[in-house]
Amino acid sequence: MTLDSHGVEIAKRKRATRAAEEVRKQYAKQQRRKIRTGTLPSPNLNISIDSYTSFVKHLESSTRILALLGAGLSAASGIPTFRDAGGFWREHDATQLATPEAFAKDPSLLWQFYNYRRHCALKAVPNRAHVALAKLAAKKSEYLAISQNIDGLSEQAKHPPRNLQLVHGSLFNVKCTNSDCIFLETGNFADPIVPALELTEQYNISDARFPLKDIPKEDLPHCPKCRSLLRPAVVWFGEPLERSAIDRIHHWLDVGKVDLMMVVGTSATVWPAANYIHAARIAGARIAVFNTEKPGMDDDAAMGLREQDWFFEGDAAATIPDTFKEIFGSVA
Ligand SMILES: [Zn+2]
Repeated sequence: MTLDSHGVEIAKRKRATRAAEEVRKQYAKQQRRKIRTGTLPSPNLNISIDSYTSFVKHLESSTRILALLGAGLSAASGIPTFRDAGGFWREHDATQLATPEAFAKDPSLLWQFYNYRRHCALKAVPNRAHVALAKLAAKKSEYLAISQNIDGLSEQAKHPPRNLQLVHGSLFNVKCTNSDCIFLETGNFADPIVPALELTEQYNISDARFPLKDIPKEDLPHCPKCRSLLRPAVVWFGEPLERSAIDRIHHWLDVGKVDLMMVVGTSATVWPAANYIHAARIAGARIAVFNTEKPGMDDDAAMGLREQDWFFEGDAAATIPDTFKEIFGSVA
């Protein structure tokens, strides 16, 4: 019998090492199989196995799920938002441009801005997160998504309308500017919306080095009922949200306990977004944030995350489908 310097039989130690190596190999094989079959987070994402597992379990057992969808959801689809601080279009600060006052002053400029945004949104395709959220909506009938996005990509991903509440309107809805007229057209996908707004191939209208056309008022979109100017049916800075949208959300919250609140692609620091998170938490929800920026940990803040909550850092187009794959299958 040969002993090593610690008095342990060398043959025995070798057997133990081989056994440990076998266990390690089996474990690695098992982990690789789990990744393949979607029961572990993708190794490319910064998601811990513990938070992944606990989230998947909670998502599966949740019935009443509220989601707040922001610009970050559409970032991977290439949609510029102009809503962030410092968001500019040409030389215009978007917070000054997307206002009723700016439209009244220069409807030609505003219609060129919105016709361009319609054009971009029409060319974009929904990403894997839009598709995964639409799958969630199809599976969980009591799910409600509050979307701040106006790009129509959730709708394009076949998100059922009964589970989707837009709060900032849509680029593809237009309404009359005459307050006595109730004309509203939904689902207008014409590009350009009127011939005068046709984008030329030669240059990018967003590039301030090129001059914009000054389009006469009569060539801009007009109401078929009263001939007043039409405007995009989106919520501009300084305008209140649609009453019907707020009522629907409040009604949904009033029904009872909320199991899960998902905050997707938004820092949700402003009213009323922050209020929905607060209300969901009071109704018992655990919060899951999918965003590139981590929310503050301050408990007084609406979204101060707590121990039972989750933060999935990164592009929602990657983290949402990855955390949903075990329940809803992989999204190509
Ligand atoms: Zn009208």
